[in-house]
Amino acid sequence: MHMITTPDLVDTHCHLDVDAFDPDRDEVLARSRQAGVRRIVIPGVEAEHWEASLALCAAAAGLYPALGLHPVYLDRHAENDVAALETAIDRRRPVAVGEIGLDYFVPGLDRDAQQALFEAQLAVARDAGLPVLLHVRKAHDQVLATLRRVGVRGGIAHAFNGSLQQAQKYLERGFKLGFGGTLTYERSRKIRAVARDLPLESIVLETDAPDIVVASHRGERNSPEYLPECLAALAEVRDEDALALAAATTRNACSVLGLDRQWGQS
Ligand SMILES: [Zn+2]
Repeated sequence: MHMITTPDLVDTHCHLDVDAFDPDRDEVLARSRQAGVRRIVIPGVEAEHWEASLALCAAAAGLYPALGLHPVYLDRHAENDVAALETAIDRRRPVAVGEIGLDYFVPGLDRDAQQALFEAQLAVARDAGLPVLLHVRKAHDQVLATLRRVGVRGGIAHAFNGSLQQAQKYLERGFKLGFGGTLTYERSRKIRAVARDLPLESIVLETDAPDIVVASHRGERNSPEYLPECLAALAEVRDEDALALAAATTRNACSVLGLDRQWGQS
């Protein structure tokens, strides 16, 4: 009997478009596919990078763009970027709006300005019928309150770092929770416990490469090819079969982001 041992994985959050991958992006992509990472979602962070990300996704199979304005880069966004987002979404139809959200951890980021930017982008996502990729640090309750006001069709709370109760509230709003490299560190007790206790249908995998590197590559650039290590950590934490978890997390990612077709092909 033939046994399939390579998982079919989706990296739901990977900044493959950034400079850190310029020297060897094709090789990284080839090694990722070899490792079973067949689909990669590339979130947008600022308007001037959208076009390159869209071009990258159009040129290779299995790459899916999201477009958005990241809260941490608040001072790089221009007045008319939200209007530009609306236009770009209309013309290019990315799989999601993101990454967007609220960051109360980074010092000196104007919270009112973040809130206005976040709400404006949520409204764009709602009107376009697209899911959103959320970046949330120390602001889950504020984000959940905002989601209650501006209803969107769900999405992913990326690099989830909230409580089980907060996770439950995201699930009620049609969201999945993203887990990645943090799971590979024993000391991440709280996040590992949340990943253990959540229902399986709520979990998606991500690397957030080039950030949040897995424990075995500490100090190096993170890469989507390490996603199987995140899967292994999730399997260990939940005491479940890795291949079954791979199938479930891929199903979850496809259902929330609609990744069943190649992007950019009709
Ligand atoms: Zn990100």
